[in-house]
Amino acid sequence: MFQKVLIANRGEIALRVLRACKELGIATVAVYSTADRSAMHVRMADESVCIGPNAAKDSYLNVPSILAACEITGADAVHPGYGFLSENARFARILTEHKITFIGPSSHHIEIMGDKITAKKTAVELGIPVVPGSDGEVTTPAEAQAVAKTIGYPVIVKATAGGGGRGMKVARNDEEMAIAISTARTEAKAAFGNDSVYIEKYLQKPRHIEIQVMGDGQGNAVHLGTRDCSLQRRHQKVWEEASAPTVPAEQREKIGEICAVAMRKLKYSGAGTIEFLYENGEFYFIEMNTRLQVEHPVTERITGIDIVYEQIRVASGEKLSLKQKDVTFTGHAIEVRINAEDPQTFAPSPGKINFYHPAGGVGVRVDSAVYGGYTIPPYYDSLIGKLIVYGRTREECLMRLRRAIDEFVVDGIKTTLPLFQRLIKEPDILAGNYDIHWLEKYLAKK
Ligand code: ADP
Repeated sequence: MFQKVLIANRGEIALRVLRACKELGIATVAVYSTADRSAMHVRMADESVCIGPNAAKDSYLNVPSILAACEITGADAVHPGYGFLSENARFARILTEHKITFIGPSSHHIEIMGDKITAKKTAVELGIPVVPGSDGEVTTPAEAQAVAKTIGYPVIVKATAGGGGRGMKVARNDEEMAIAISTARTEAKAAFGNDSVYIEKYLQKPRHIEIQVMGDGQGNAVHLGTRDCSLQRRHQKVWEEASAPTVPAEQREKIGEICAVAMRKLKYSGAGTIEFLYENGEFYFIEMNTRLQVEHPVTERITGIDIVYEQIRVASGEKLSLKQKDVTFTGHAIEVRINAEDPQTFAPSPGKINFYHPAGGVGVRVDSAVYGGYTIPPYYDSLIGKLIVYGRTREECLMRLRRAIDEFVVDGIKTTLPLFQRLIKEPDILAGNYDIHWLEKYLAKK
């Protein structure tokens, strides 16, 4: 097992990893930018190192600085959290070359899944169902129109190097396609430095369903069930549930098993998420995230498994402690993302928190790194906390979520809590009757 883990992240996820390390008896090193000098992760770690100025590119993305922090403190492993360097194959490789363990999959697996065309090809080889589309990259309108003829409009043009919901264009006919191809290529080049695009059938009313997987790199892998993350704004998730409501249990089991088998074949190591669109009872692979996800706590709640603990264990070379038959699913969990944003306009709302009172009580977990008197810096992601609620049934979970949202007080800045106060009363939400477009349509109406 590791002696000392450096956590190359900030905010709630840095705290989440710190907690797992402490429970495993591992010493912790926090890294921080000058803007984060008084952040909670710095206060809670055994040691801390300043790695640069405010801008993430100069601090949390600054590889030489993070390597130096490992050197100074003698850390033998790095946990990247999510975002920042968590899916950076080069970073994983450099650490390995310096005999420091990257707590995550191999750089090879990060690379395969980071390129969407290669990821899709790999998925096909592994027997995972994918969205019908082009066989790899498409460069000219004529080529694109020929693909659209076989799969039918509407189609979506996606950037091979895309991420964060960017670099996608929908086309409904040949004329739109001609424009979509050239604009998508130009935009992809500007955003990702790579103009490669491909085409998929555009699904009209899908749900976003994902499977949590966990492997040990030695051919053992399990799935930890489904999550429904269909409630999205600008392709960003705002509300997540486990298990996925509306997907029948036997279908959840079947897709989970397909993913577990695929991860065994791949000899995948660490935590990962295989994302699907789900429409008319069919699953279609869209991508795999080779890291811990923001929404992992809902899975932890219904399985009783500490995903970060397992990540650390397998990274240290131990075998997966779980067998598929040991993984059981009990009750229902929902997570809502509390962002420092105006709940109407979604404009960022950084600043000082005067008073902070998180929800508590039975079945409530709050993962956050803020406190009363803390000033949220304007430089990073607006996520300030996650409220995770459990119930024996979805109905109980929803009632508990309603009372937990009412209890939660973050005074001094604007947050998305009022949005959830509204959503929790919506009949479609209560019935679990929503697809990936529901939230955008709802927000446009109000
Ligand atoms: P990113 O890596 O940018 O998050 P994804 O491939 O995961 O890109 O897609 C993000 C979101 O875009 C999905 O959750 C879904 O809302 C939408 N999307 C992607 N592919 C399709 C498709 N073929 N049809 C309809 N919507 C899609």
